[in-house]
Amino acid sequence: MGQVTLSFDNGPDPVVTDRVLDVLARRDLKASFFAVGDRLADPAAGRALVRAREAGHLIGNHTFTHGLPLGEDLRADAVEQEIIATERALAQLGLTTRLFRPHGKGGQLGPHLLSRAARDYLAAEHYTCVMWNCVPGDWRDEAGWVDTALAACAREPETLVVLHDYVASTAANLDRFCGALLEAGHSIRQAFPRSCLPMRDGIATSALVAMVA
Ligand SMILES: [Zn+2]
Repeated sequence: MGQVTLSFDNGPDPVVTDRVLDVLARRDLKASFFAVGDRLADPAAGRALVRAREAGHLIGNHTFTHGLPLGEDLRADAVEQEIIATERALAQLGLTTRLFRPHGKGGQLGPHLLSRAARDYLAAEHYTCVMWNCVPGDWRDEAGWVDTALAACAREPETLVVLHDYVASTAANLDRFCGALLEAGHSIRQAFPRSCLPMRDGIATSALVAMVA
């Protein structure tokens, strides 16, 4: 039976993030929330993220606009606009993080994820890059993602699942998913599988090369 780590991307959302937090609290589970910076302009969303931190969840930076993947973003100031801007938005809530998760192409791993400038900034700032090995598509398969994710968790000894805390149906199905994982004998932990961390505290592994344009 495997170890499963839950992560929630693209929030915070003023309604759904709180629902996700309620489910995790009832089950006494800890997870991670990778926030999109421009969502923090909504004070209720910001409060939800602060609640997540206070409950012991990890907070990560998931770019400011979730626009072009950084490996395809040709703006000279993309690092400033996407990573540093999110650091500032988090700081206004009293939050800091050295976890970064890139995005792009529905969760495919590849050189679209990071630019060299982004890699260099993240390394200099001692970031840990948190990738994934399970993207069950909760935003497009609202009924089926639970079974997709359960099958993935049955195949791997360590699974880092990406879900989305702006999708209402994800929150609605989360308790059922967690229950099924535990019933299948998996344990749910907060720690990330090492294989999903191509950079740790600014130090890149050989796996990072394939994720930089
Ligand atoms: Zn995302």
